[in-house]
Formats: sequence, structure tokens, C-alpha cells
Amino acid sequence: MSGDQDENPSGPHLPLEPRPGHSSRGRLERILRRGEFAVTAELNPPDSANPADVYDRARIFDGWVDGINAVDASGANCHMSSVGICALLTRMGYAPIMQISCRDRNRIAIQGDVLGSAAMGVANILCLTGDGVQAGDQPGAKPVFDLDSMSLLETIRTMRDDRRFLSGRKLTTPPEVFLGAAINPFAPPYDFRPLRLGKKIAAGAQFVQSQYCFDVPMFRTYMQRVRDLGHTENCFILCGVGPLASARTARWIRANVPGIHIPDPVIARLEGAADQKREGKRLAIDIINEVKEIPGVSGIHVMAYRQEEYVAEIVDESGVLKGRRPWQREAGRDEERIARRLDEILHAETPQTQADLVKTAHR
Ligand SMILES: Cc1cc2nc3c(=O)[nH]c(=O)nc-3n(C[C@H](O)[C@H](O)[C@H](O)COP(=O)(O)OP(=O)(O)OC[C@H]3O[C@@H](n4cnc5c(N)ncnc54)[C@H](O)[C@@H]3O)c2cc1C
Repeated sequence: MSGDQDENPSGPHLPLEPRPGHSSRGRLERILRRGEFAVTAELNPPDSANPADVYDRARIFDGWVDGINAVDASGANCHMSSVGICALLTRMGYAPIMQISCRDRNRIAIQGDVLGSAAMGVANILCLTGDGVQAGDQPGAKPVFDLDSMSLLETIRTMRDDRRFLSGRKLTTPPEVFLGAAINPFAPPYDFRPLRLGKKIAAGAQFVQSQYCFDVPMFRTYMQRVRDLGHTENCFILCGVGPLASARTARWIRANVPGIHIPDPVIARLEGAADQKREGKRLAIDIINEVKEIPGVSGIHVMAYRQEEYVAEIVDESGVLKGRRPWQREAGRDEERIARRLDEILHAETPQTQADLVKTAHR
């Protein structure tokens, strides 16, 4: 290990020493600026108010990833909020990448969340326009879209660098955050995608995470153009990858999830396999092995929806870490006692109704 033992392994997030040229005090920015190949992974957000559901899911990534993405109602379906997930992750010392979609909150709410999350130790924010409400299971919800990904990037950059809200009002302590955005090299119009990345960089994006890559030649062409435009000098590019559970799932995703491109040979390869789930994992590893060699690719972003147990194997077998061991949480002394107490609280029979409680309180 170099002199970059970045964070307290057994406790909550502690502010790190600032580094020259860094926007954040976070681990992900340090890894990327050191020129190491970064690995991030998406945490499947629980439909639950139990913190253990977040801790259990994060623990699977221990020692394998440099950052954990907390999604913001992706697909416009409600789950535990990204702010809530980040609060829990920072408490345990993890390095979250907080995703913010512009669909559900206006600029006033979002700027407040940026300050609150930075105060909790969130060092990375991924700025998204977000999926439209019609994509989710509550299509009657009111869409906000007061900002979009570009104006959100500009807003947070203004807060960080100019130390003020959009209104001009001064901030006493600005949010020190590393700013990211999403890219989709696999959605038409293809020629426009590298230019759109340029706009996101101009708006403040310092790193980007791509939509799932199942078509390496298409990604290679995109990266060539991105390099020609000089974007790799100004932005770290992480390629999105993930295992497909079966040919049937792949067909369903292709038909139903906008922006995800899965070529026919990929589906044929899964179809021809005796164990399609294993083959889906193998395919993800093969894709990683190809994209990691593309100049300008700084890392991978693993999205293993409902197959998180494969993330460690995928990262390990692809060898992207080259023997490097990302930050790993060490169990704290009080952890077992806290887990037991939490279990008691969450599963205890409620002895009294709310009305009884009020009566007893006044006695
Ligand atoms: C890594 C990653 C994480 C994501 N996490 C979330 C999340 O947490 N919450 C969430 O709601 N969504 C999430 N998405 C989905 C994302 O918001 C949509 O795919 C969105 O259409 C494009 O990304 P953006 O939000 O950055 O939009 P922008 O790049 O700002 O695009 C804005 C608009 O451009 C158009 N557009 C862009 N891409 C496409 C496309 N492929 N097809 C048709 N029109 C398009 C749409 O009109 C869109 O509203 C994620 C996507 C990626 C790649």
C-alpha cells in the first residue's frame, strides 16, 4: 500500500486531507487521478426501511470496488432514496456515488440535498436528467424536471467553485464533490453522443459512467471519436458492464428498457449455453477484458442487477485490479451489539397503540 491509506477502515467517513488539483476528499477521485483502473458498482436499492438491507448489499462489494452508486429511483420506480442510502454508507465508511435525477425535485430541494450529503461525507455526485415518470410503476406522478443533467452539473459546480447557491446567496462551506454524469454511446444518434459528452464536460462533468456495454466495436468507435475530440484529457470514462441472467432476460431488456442495446450475437451466445447464468457472467468478463484495453477508458462500472453476488467474481476473474485491493471495511467492536439491538427494535411486537402511548405519556 502506498501512502494513500485513504480512509478509516472501521468507522464512519472522516474528512481526508485535501489534495492539490482535487475537487473532493474522496477515494474515487484519488484512484482515478493516480491513474489506477477504477471499479464502481451499483447497489440494488431496497424496498425497505431496514438499514441492514443496505449494509448487507454493500458488504458484498467489500474490497472489490472504489465507489458504490446509490441510484435515484431509476426507471422512475420508488425505492429507498439515494440520500438515505448514502447516509447509511458514509456511516460505515463506504465511498458512495450519489445519483441525483431531476425528475422528482426542484432546484431548491436538490441544492439542499447536495449540502446535506456533502456534510455526511458524500464526495461523488452523478448528475442525471432521469427516466421519465411514464417508465415507472406510478406514471401519474408529477414530473418536475426543473433542471436537467447539464444545468444540474452547472448548479453543483457553481456551489462548489463559486461558493454560492444559484440565487447568488453565499455558502459558508461549499460542497467538495467530484462531479459525474451518465453517457450512452449505444443510443442513436451515434455521431451526436461524443459531442454530448463534450457538453457535459463543459457543464462540469469530471467523470462519466456509461450505459451497459454489450457491443464492444460500437464502444471502440465511440471512444476513438471521444479521444479525437480531446475529451479523455478532461474526463475519466468508466464503461458500464453487467451480467445478463439469460437469453430471455436479454430479450426482455432489449424490448422494454430504452437506451440498452443488445446485439443478436450476444443473445445467441446465451441461448447456446448449457448454463445461461454462468455464460452471462463469462460474457461480462470477456467484455471487461476488451474494454479495459481501449485507450481512454479509466475504469468499469458494474451494474449486476439482482446478481450482485457475481460482482466480486467478475472483478476478480477479469483481473482489472491487477492485484490492487480497494478499501475494505473492518468490522467495528460494537457492530454485533448494534445489529442485535436493531433486530430487536425492528422485530419487536408493538406493546401499545399510538393512542395508549399518548395517554401514558400524560400520566
Ligand atoms: C449509469 C447510469 C445510471 C442511471 N441512473 C439513473 C437513476 O438513478 N435514476 C433515473 O431516473 N435514471 C437513471 N438512469 C437513466 C437515465 O437517466 C436515462 O437513461 C436518460 O434518458 C439518459 O441519461 P441522463 O439522465 O444523463 O440524460 P441526458 O443525457 O441529460 O438526456 C436528457 C434527455 O435526452 C434524451 N435521451 C438521452 N438518452 C436517450 C436515449 N437513450 N433514448 C432516448 N432519449 C434519450 C431524453 O429525452 C432525455 O430526457 C441512469 C443511466 C445510466 C447510464
